[in-house]
Amino acid sequence: MIIDGHVHMWLRPMYPDVIINAYLEPWLAMSEFLDLSRDMEDNFPTSEVRPELLLGYMNRAKVDRSVVLPLDFGLVQEPKVGVEALNDWIFGSAQLYPDKLIPFMGIDPRRGEQAIRLMRKYHSQFEPRGIKVYPPNGFYPNEERLRPFWDEVRDMDLIVVSHAGASWGPLDEEKGRPIHFKGVLERYPDMKLIIAHLGGKYRAETYEMAREYENLYTDCSALQGWLPSDPGTVKDRLGEALAVMGDKVIFGTDWPLFDLAYPYESWCAFVREQAFCSEEQREQLMGGTMQRLLGL
Ligand SMILES: [Zn+2]
Repeated sequence: MIIDGHVHMWLRPMYPDVIINAYLEPWLAMSEFLDLSRDMEDNFPTSEVRPELLLGYMNRAKVDRSVVLPLDFGLVQEPKVGVEALNDWIFGSAQLYPDKLIPFMGIDPRRGEQAIRLMRKYHSQFEPRGIKVYPPNGFYPNEERLRPFWDEVRDMDLIVVSHAGASWGPLDEEKGRPIHFKGVLERYPDMKLIIAHLGGKYRAETYEMAREYENLYTDCSALQGWLPSDPGTVKDRLGEALAVMGDKVIFGTDWPLFDLAYPYESWCAFVREQAFCSEEQREQLMGGTMQRLLGL
């Protein structure tokens, strides 16, 4: 089974303007030359990312299942459609394709009681297997005030996916360092944590912590940012991650991000075909590990 461990779906009003502007900055800069219409901020190529679009991509790339990660940027700036409607939409959409889409929750831990209420709501309705958090929004995972959130994560036995590495605009990249999870992993030794993007520029920390914490995983999404110009670096990164973390590395795409720069289907083929590991390792990478984590 091929599982993409890291994809997104959204509708434009679910994200605040500051996040969209940071994401679109390169295009907006060009628009002065290209004379693009002024409504680009509302109608850019991926302003609506619905499940049907994702399924088309998955089918063409022969990906069996995808883990869908909602992103709660609402405490950075309130979007038109709030965190509850966002998660409602994600779960409602994924429910239409239960054998294809595996939705996680996306809730900022700083929401306190609201976070717990939402987690309980989705847990009782859908029993999601995990939750996505985004420390660069403005928190350190090991902050004392977040303890009730992690208690709830433990009680629901959730897999945590945390963003690490490049963050733009108002986001604070430093807060995404894997090292800030140390206290959390020590307190909750059974918690399964996936550091996204190998940890980005902090990947040495991911590797160092993987030696210490048995339940630390990582995903290789966003590495395609080096493609097509630098396949050597991508193969090196994949090879080093597998050498250090073995079957704790999970395939991911970060779709639809990067698709314009390096197509989804090409990235899936790259990881499936290039020489950087044994075939046994590749099987775990492409889905085996995630299948085990999800209990599929
Ligand atoms: Zn992502």
